[in-house]
Amino acid sequence: MVTSRELGRTRLPLWAAGFVVLICVAILGLSAWREWEARNADLRNAEIDVANVAHSLVQHADDTFELVDTILVGLVHRLEIDGTGPDTIAKLQAYLPTRKSSDRIRGIFVYDATGRWLATTERLDFSKLNNSDREYFQRHRDSQDTGTLIGPPIKSKSGGQWIITASRRINDSDGGFAGVALLTIDVSYFVKFYERFDIGPNSSASLLNNSGIMLARSHDEASAFVGRDLSNAPLFKEWEKRPAAAVYYFKSPLDGVQRLSYYQRSSRYPLIVLASKSQDDVLAPWRGAATIRTVFVLGLVLLIALIGFFLVRQLWQRQRMAQALVAKEAHFRLLAEQSSDMVSRIGLDNRLLYVSPSCVRIIGWSPEELLGTSAVAGIHPEDMERVEQAIAALKNGEAEEARFVYRQRHRDKSEIWAEAALHVTRASDSGEIDGVVAVVRDMTAQKDLQDKLASLATTDGLTGLANRRAFDERLQEEWARARRDGTQLSLLLIDVDHFKKFNDHYGHLAGDGCLRALGRILSAHAKRPADLAARYGGEEFAVLLPNTGPDGCAEVGEGIRRALHELAMLHAQNPPSRLVTASVGAATSLPSQTTTDCSTLVAAADRALYAAKDSGRDRLVVSGQVVSWPAKRA
Ligand code: GH3
Ligand code: MG
Ligand code: MG
Repeated sequence: MVTSRELGRTRLPLWAAGFVVLICVAILGLSAWREWEARNADLRNAEIDVANVAHSLVQHADDTFELVDTILVGLVHRLEIDGTGPDTIAKLQAYLPTRKSSDRIRGIFVYDATGRWLATTERLDFSKLNNSDREYFQRHRDSQDTGTLIGPPIKSKSGGQWIITASRRINDSDGGFAGVALLTIDVSYFVKFYERFDIGPNSSASLLNNSGIMLARSHDEASAFVGRDLSNAPLFKEWEKRPAAAVYYFKSPLDGVQRLSYYQRSSRYPLIVLASKSQDDVLAPWRGAATIRTVFVLGLVLLIALIGFFLVRQLWQRQRMAQALVAKEAHFRLLAEQSSDMVSRIGLDNRLLYVSPSCVRIIGWSPEELLGTSAVAGIHPEDMERVEQAIAALKNGEAEEARFVYRQRHRDKSEIWAEAALHVTRASDSGEIDGVVAVVRDMTAQKDLQDKLASLATTDGLTGLANRRAFDERLQEEWARARRDGTQLSLLLIDVDHFKKFNDHYGHLAGDGCLRALGRILSAHAKRPADLAARYGGEEFAVLLPNTGPDGCAEVGEGIRRALHELAMLHAQNPPSRLVTASVGAATSLPSQTTTDCSTLVAAADRALYAAKDSGRDRLVVSGQVVSWPAKRA
């Protein structure tokens, strides 16, 4: 079982992918954090700006109303001491303009207990004017409180413009209501003043009273906002719990702009100052820069992710390739190692680089013993040249593959027959031949079988002599040789006499035994290596005697006939000897006859055989020899 680790699979691509993702996330996270910090720093700076403005404006409001207070206190004090007689009023009318020295103060007014105008800094005829309908007048009339009352903005009766009123009650000597002293400030005075504190587009500065009524607001030349009741705005919810001054973010109910502001309550008067900036305006420079930086960072992250993706993919592909390679190698090793054939790899120096384990079975040596040794060691010397030539041809590129059968020494057995299939191998990079792969198979058993079949095909089963086919082939060969060499070729045809009767009398098995005995005699008499004794058919035999003349031939034929005689096998039906005998016909091809077919030799021998039969059997007749013909055929 091959484990995944052995196949070269690791988690490296996964780790690499994780690492790339981590880097991307880290860069994105860091840059987001940095942008958040930059945004907050910009907001902090803006908060400081609005806080500074609020501090200044509160100071200014305090100063303004302190001045107003001082004038009112002085005026009321004087009226309460001097009374409101005509003399006093006349003096007052002369005195008042001197108090209105500052441009902060729009006008100073004195009303009697009925609301009738007594004196004013305004240059108009006020004899018929009455202010008893004003809220501040009624409040002072109905309340003993002698403090300064700062009213909501109202439209001036004398000038028609928006004004803020500050008033005090005047008591008579008994403490009863004697009238009201009033001082007005133009709303536009604050508006103009606040414009000096321009802290950016869409910025605003507002002065409100404690009840949430807008007294003045910058950029409000049209007086659109003056007098608005903002007591329902979130800032005034839970107003009592809020600190005296704080940063405050809100969406303006006046212009719908999201604002960053700082409000501060006056410590001496029921006033609130609110300085604010548009949050969008504050953050605009940061947004612009952050957009560029973010695009840059995103580009960088994208680049890293892309490069990472390709690297990881490369890693993954390499790993898959390596895995496939390992698996392929395992398959091939398995094939080689499980093969019954001996698979080997031969280097260019003819040394064995690899041998599969089946070499133990095929040639008796283990792979460890064979590695590094010569690939042609143990080859039979007669086959060596052929094998070496084949390997050299492969290595020279003359052939891609070669196949041959050769003999190989076995470690324990004597020798085996082997069949080798060789194929050149080439280096994967250069394509140069770098060796040879050999698949060697033990074919000894096959070779033996082949030999056996070959001998079966040419041998007669009963007598062990050559059969008719082998005889015919040899006859052709020897005939051709005799013609070529101009030598003589002799042939003996031998036929057992009255063999049918022998069979009939002694049985077929005895007949076979008889034929075997004759076969042995023939083998014994075909002494020379080139001689061939064959069963020609039935109980007829032939002996081919190359390089033998008529005399030699006759001698062998006679020897055979005599030997059979001497064997003295009984044959009751074969008179006169009553032994098994044979008739022999002999023929010799002469050099002059060699132009004709070899069948003439057989025909001649056959004729001689029949002549022997006809002349009484148990004799040798040589072709061309005059034989005595018996009177009657036996
Ligand atoms: P002749 O003297 O004229 O040769 O007489 P013959 O009986 O030998 O003549 P023929 O050729 O007519 O008979 C051959 C006999 O040989 C016939 C057959 O029974 C016998 N024979 C042929 N082959 C075999 C064999 O393989 N075994 C045995 N037992 N008998 C065989
Ligand atoms: Mg016969
Ligand atoms: Mg016969």
